[in-house]
Amino acid sequence: MAVTPSVVWFRDDLRLDDNPALMTAVRRGDPVVAVYILDEESAGIRPFGGAAKWWLHESLTSLASGLDGLGARLVLRRGPAEQVLPSLVAEIGASAVYWNRRYGAAERAVDARLKTRLRDEGIDVASFAASLLYEPWTIATGQGTPYSVFTPFWRACQASSPPRAPLDAPTAVDGWAGQVASDDLTGWALLPTRPDWAGGLRDAWSPGEASAHRLLEEFLTEKLDNYAGDRDVPAESATSGLSPHLRWGEISPYRVLHETDEARRGATGRTAEGASRFITELGWREFASHVLFAAPELATVNWRREFDAFPWPPLNEDALHAWQRGQTGIPIVDAGMRELWRTGAMHNRVRMIVGSFLTKNLLIDWRLGEQWFWDTLVDADASSNAFNWQWIAGSGADAAPYFRVFNPELQAKKFDPHGEYIRQNVPEWKTDGYPEPIVDLAASRRAALAAYDVVTRSK
Ligand code: FAD
Repeated sequence: MAVTPSVVWFRDDLRLDDNPALMTAVRRGDPVVAVYILDEESAGIRPFGGAAKWWLHESLTSLASGLDGLGARLVLRRGPAEQVLPSLVAEIGASAVYWNRRYGAAERAVDARLKTRLRDEGIDVASFAASLLYEPWTIATGQGTPYSVFTPFWRACQASSPPRAPLDAPTAVDGWAGQVASDDLTGWALLPTRPDWAGGLRDAWSPGEASAHRLLEEFLTEKLDNYAGDRDVPAESATSGLSPHLRWGEISPYRVLHETDEARRGATGRTAEGASRFITELGWREFASHVLFAAPELATVNWRREFDAFPWPPLNEDALHAWQRGQTGIPIVDAGMRELWRTGAMHNRVRMIVGSFLTKNLLIDWRLGEQWFWDTLVDADASSNAFNWQWIAGSGADAAPYFRVFNPELQAKKFDPHGEYIRQNVPEWKTDGYPEPIVDLAASRRAALAAYDVVTRSK
């Protein structure tokens, strides 16, 4: 009987470790064809931003080399997945297709249609949980509705069946020996060329599974003790740096949870506190995804619909531009925005400060902030980015109360007391070359609160 290959379709799971789709194909015993499809055409699937494309290129290179080491090749194809996958399956005569699930509405619709179609053709198709610890349809309130507040959500997660143990990476993959064409990654032009603005990203990051595991190990052995105390201090490298690796699935949340639990076992004091706090942050990641699952338009539609009445003034393009370029004259804001531009990331505390500044002091719609982050963050994530922008703007699930307008100067005093983070990112701070503030903090705060009155009155 002719040998028929199994296809493993890689998406947001660019790893070999704890990859149930890959493991299922390996255990099935037939030769494996691994494929990544660059789908920029399917309706509703949001095209990647610039920093994300850079990361994807590097991550695919790393995944291809990992697969190669195990005996298989990564095939690259481009186009709408609903055309590309079935034609690959037909071309190689595959009898099975496996993938790990994704949670955006458009992505789920594509996957569901593909599942039906391939099964109708007699193909064995299965999908697996690999990117979230808790499947969104398994966590609901007593009334069967999705949670809108984090604390009860996370309590319900922790009271449900514990996440499975992570699976080890296969020691070998029997790669299919037949001919199968692949695109050339360079031809996808994911890397910036004219100009090549990715130098700072290259200095700051090493995409790929190996560095994700290194970062986790380093975090658990060296940073856990100080995590709870220092995680809000941007000048300290006190957090894990795992967000882009989690975003692209280079490391599994099951692996992160498992290793953190191991580190917590028997620990007391600051280590135990650090581990618990870190696991709660993974909980926020889950919450954001569950909220997106229930509200697929999270990047564009106010989660609290009364915010539809918010009276955004006409867009001040100069102010938006100054914010994007880190030229607002508010040092902590400029430091954050320049860190983002240079490295493709920004410390969480500073993300909140720049978000509050944009939406409240500058009265610029949170969607424009979300879009800028989408284009510039290496961890740009459909759920976490939209969720956190709505959180800071006050329109989101379990959001910061609107009237909590961050005062960037007080925030800087508290979290960057020696101005270390500001100096790292704004070398001309305190010189004549540094711009005057583009907005008066006290007056703009008052204007924001007055605008919010309209929302309160519309309820
Ligand atoms: P750690 O402190 O080490 O946390 C561990 C992990 O927990 C993170 O890697 C991340 O996966 C998760 N996590 C931590 N905080 C949050 C949070 N508030 N929401 C959801 N997950 C969290 N995170 C993204 O991954 N992608 C985004 O696009 C994104 N956009 C954001 C936009 C705004 C306006 C704000 C305020 C926050 C955003 N975050 C986003 C959340 C957070 O800033 C980053 O996850 C964090 O800075 C990553 O650093 P770390 O990996 O060192 O975090």
